[in-house]
Amino acid sequence: MIDTHCHLDFENFDKNREEVIKRAKKKLTSLINSGTSFQGNINTLKLSNENPDFIYPSLGFHPIQSADMNDSEVNKVLYQISNYIDDIVAIGEVGIDFFYVKDKIQRNRQMDIFKRFCSLANEHEKPIIIHCRDGEKKAFNIINQFDRISDVIFHCYSGSLKTAKKIMDNGYYMSSSTMIDYSTQHQELFREIPLEYILTETDSPYLHPIRGEMNEPSCVKIAINKLAEIKEVDYTSVNKITENNAKKIFKI
Ligand SMILES: [Zn+2]
Repeated sequence: MIDTHCHLDFENFDKNREEVIKRAKKKLTSLINSGTSFQGNINTLKLSNENPDFIYPSLGFHPIQSADMNDSEVNKVLYQISNYIDDIVAIGEVGIDFFYVKDKIQRNRQMDIFKRFCSLANEHEKPIIIHCRDGEKKAFNIINQFDRISDVIFHCYSGSLKTAKKIMDNGYYMSSSTMIDYSTQHQELFREIPLEYILTETDSPYLHPIRGEMNEPSCVKIAINKLAEIKEVDYTSVNKITENNAKKIFKI
């Protein structure tokens, strides 16, 4: 099993990070930790260095924060990522979030910043991990302007089936989080998406199926289980196919 998207650097894990990593090591082949800020990216690299061949780093900049960031702050993160480009498996999470950000100027700012991260991924031919809420079609159109990004992953995909089909036509991927356990929208959506286009993730510490519980990478089996159930495919095949997708994309 691979958890392709989590945030073990977040302070939510300050009290139990070591145990969480220990439990993850017992169950998972590897995991990808996604940085969301300048400091978060530093902590992500540190976690990866402390857990070689297990925690792989992806460095990014969260779109909710990006709406208010000035150019020098954005440049600082772009420069940071360029500096570590050979050490990371992907750029992300980056993207757009129109669920939290309603203001038009801020939304344009998000899209503008997202393009700059896409451009960086394009320049270095890296995969990109996209956070997107209520703007999947817009994010898809932006990403389509670049032709050298090695792979595109819509993390915790929640868009329409119509956009999902376009995503697949372009050979991009969507990841199913543990949210699929309780979200009928996600169940209906992922029932229609072939396993060849699916990755699995927890988005820890978020999205635990039990409200109020903190999610952790070892819970990724919940997503795999649910995918197996809704697709009427055995657990082992779901695990094998989604894990191979991740290995191929992130070259791990
Ligand atoms: Zn995330």
